[in-house]
Amino acid sequence: MKDLIFATANLNKIKEIRAILDGQFNILGLDSIGCTEDIPETQPTIEGNALQKAQYVVDHYGVDCFAEDTGLEIDALDGEPGVYSARYAGPERSSEANIRLALKKLADKENRGAQFKTVIALIQEGQTLTFEGIVRGRIISEKRGTGGFGYDPVFVPDGYQQTFAEMDADTKNKISHRARAVAKLKEYLLNS
Ligand code: IMP
Repeated sequence: MKDLIFATANLNKIKEIRAILDGQFNILGLDSIGCTEDIPETQPTIEGNALQKAQYVVDHYGVDCFAEDTGLEIDALDGEPGVYSARYAGPERSSEANIRLALKKLADKENRGAQFKTVIALIQEGQTLTFEGIVRGRIISEKRGTGGFGYDPVFVPDGYQQTFAEMDADTKNKISHRARAVAKLKEYLLNS
């Protein structure tokens, strides 16, 4: 089985991807190549950050790998918080505060449309590819539900009544931005 490095320190994400690519690839985390430093994420776009992380690992460790980056893009806020989703309300990365700020900025807006976007950047044998997963939905004005993380309590995906935080994890993981991006990565890896 071929080794493939996933440039993340998040063990949950590694577990999730391992389950999806089960038996096809040996997905390894950054610890397996001795990379313990924080990889820079300084680009102004989600795609730029995914590419930056993957390129960093290639440049410093000389292995093929993929990286991902995700954000919430709110239509009425010109795509904010986007690449700044984790630290929207400040460096302490509080989901509570981030949601509060987004709801405050949306208070007088009629358009509640938004999307989660994940970009996966894959660098294999010097070739770079990106895979995008998007789920459209709307931002409600009060939090509902206790599951998930981040902006889940205020995001209702199109075609559903429940927020991501009210859904069971299996349902969310079938329709999520991340699942869609990973499905594209999987299709590519299995057919290339
Ligand atoms: P990351 O790139 O996966 O770390 O995501 C960056 C930020 O986007 C997180 O800190 C969350 O605030 C938000 N986010 C990413 N994915 C989700 C999700 O599935 N639900 C809710 N918020 C998310």
